[in-house]
Amino acid sequence: MNTMVNEVEGKAALVTGAASGIGRAIAELLHERGAKVVAEDIDPKVEELARDGLIPLVADVTVDGTAEKAVSLAVRSFGKLDILVNNAGRIIYKPIVEMTRQDWNWQMETNVTGAFLHSREAMKAMVPNKSGAIVNIASYASYFAFKGISAYTASKGALAQLTRTQALEAIEHGIRVNAIGVGDVVTNLLNHFMEDGRAFLADHGKKAPIGRAADAKEIAEIAAFLASDRASFIVGSVVMADGGMSVPIG
Ligand code: NAD
Repeated sequence: MNTMVNEVEGKAALVTGAASGIGRAIAELLHERGAKVVAEDIDPKVEELARDGLIPLVADVTVDGTAEKAVSLAVRSFGKLDILVNNAGRIIYKPIVEMTRQDWNWQMETNVTGAFLHSREAMKAMVPNKSGAIVNIASYASYFAFKGISAYTASKGALAQLTRTQALEAIEHGIRVNAIGVGDVVTNLLNHFMEDGRAFLADHGKKAPIGRAADAKEIAEIAAFLASDRASFIVGSVVMADGGMSVPIG
């Protein structure tokens, strides 16, 4: 059994949305713990991550052909694919009456369709090896409602259900699929519609029983664990990592 410091030694991973925040922390931690990594993002900043055993790929998760390109890059470079982390995500803030079909579709395409496409292609590469781990970055918004982000909550609810259903199909081939129900994490997620999204997330996190938002590295630890053989009996779970935000308090 691997110890924590080398828990993904010798594994080959693909992480989407790896230029920033949680995805970047996951790509860096998997690499640090011994995995070879393809780090994919629509933002060319992902190229800053390039190093031995860490290959950046500038691509949009929603575009036809991206998932195929990313998986084949991993297989060509590392000989196989063991780990997929579907992390790429965005959030749109609009009341329902103001939301266009285009807004809605963009949110679903980014947060769910991209994960479906990457999971499908990753599974094709994993099935012959009879092993693999897929980690989807869901949210406490997979279960909880917040005014103004209906498309986001619907997309994360769908991602949680994709996780469970895919887990049933995948485990027959030795592939584990799980998700993380992430709480508030200080990242750039909200920066495209508010001036200081990081301050908002830090402040919102104070509502959790733990009294603070998370650092992206705290979520990366869980992703690395779920991706590793240490999590060998965890199948179809949405592991809550939200500082207690989802605890029903009496
Ligand atoms: P972030 O904005 O720092 O990072 C998201 C990354 O995804 C960015 O680098 C972005 O360029 C990339 N991305 C977006 N659309 C893409 C596309 N079409 N193709 C490829 N890459 C794309 O935000 P983050 O908080 O690190 O978000 C990561 C994930 O965590 C998201 O799925 C988000 O919904 C989820 N999450 C975040 C929080 C939080 O509080 N930050 C809470 C719950 C869930």
